[in-house]
Amino acid sequence: MVLSKSRTGKLLSNRKKLWNIWKQISKFLAETYSNLGQEKRAQRVEKCATYLLFLQCQNSSEHPKKLKAGNFCRDRLCPQCQQRRSAKQFAISIQLGHELLKRNPKYQFIFLTLTVPNVPLEDLKTTIAHILASWHRLMMRSQCKKAVKGFIRTLEITYNRERDDWHPHIHAALVVQHSYFTSRYYIKRDRWLEMWQEVTKQPEITQVDVRKLKPKQEAIAGIDPLLLAFAELSKYSIKDWSIPRQELERLSRDSKPIDRHIKGHAWLRKSPQETAKIVKKLQNALQRRNLVHYGGILKDIKRELKLKDGEDEDLDLINSDRAKTQCQCSICGGNMKEIWYQWQQTIANYHSL
Ligand SMILES: [Zn+2]
Ligand SMILES: [Zn+2]
Repeated sequence: MVLSKSRTGKLLSNRKKLWNIWKQISKFLAETYSNLGQEKRAQRVEKCATYLLFLQCQNSSEHPKKLKAGNFCRDRLCPQCQQRRSAKQFAISIQLGHELLKRNPKYQFIFLTLTVPNVPLEDLKTTIAHILASWHRLMMRSQCKKAVKGFIRTLEITYNRERDDWHPHIHAALVVQHSYFTSRYYIKRDRWLEMWQEVTKQPEITQVDVRKLKPKQEAIAGIDPLLLAFAELSKYSIKDWSIPRQELERLSRDSKPIDRHIKGHAWLRKSPQETAKIVKKLQNALQRRNLVHYGGILKDIKRELKLKDGEDEDLDLINSDRAKTQCQCSICGGNMKEIWYQWQQTIANYHSL
């Protein structure tokens, strides 16, 4: 009797995670590195996330899955790895935040967004250097030194498709004493703006965003307030898309290969030559730049707990703590099982093994 292997496997259903889109874009990246003569890098990116191991609900494959393992390339421009880094960064920020508040409940967070005017790609490298040096000068100001006990700062770069220019900016969570808001160390929004204009030497800047984390309100809704606040902070590095999320989700459901004519991606262009030019400039602009940085008391706690951040080479890119504790489905409470998914180019999607 001949037993034929039945095809019972399933496509990886995506919901919010656009695994199949990311994988296709990372293939374009591999091709681009190859065009730039960076063969080793190309091969590493080409093999990124060919396998993904998920914890999946036994009752429904539609219920949220939890990534347990995968082979990731860790390239800075790789969309898959960028997502993983952000998730990991998020988890570390939350952990640090909770540890800080456990040790000293009197501390509070304020969130600061600092921008400079958009620049063409040619000027991105010098502008990133400029914004990071300006941040350093800001933190060295005696007014900041007195008020700020620690910080996490991230660098995010967004691309404006209409104007074809780039927008590097800083998100920072600052640790202040509980008494800060009523003390003489309190820094008003207008003063933040003034100081930012001074350290950047750009009086034309008219915006800074500074807000206080309001634990009480959000705690009522049953949501960890740190979770909401740090979400913004974790979107560091290059923001890939300027097209609406729904559009991407639609593309993701199509299960047919996307082509390089797709609009709205930060570095993907119609021609391989043009794409290569942009990728090379981005690589250069980001070279040896710490996209995330810790200071003061948060730096101390991070070191003490031996936490690795999104910048560390040997980071596993898996949010393992939560994977361990979440062994029940978050929707139905059912048991979770392990399922391997393999990338299949012909259907431009992942298929379970
Ligand atoms: Zn990757
Ligand atoms: Zn379930």
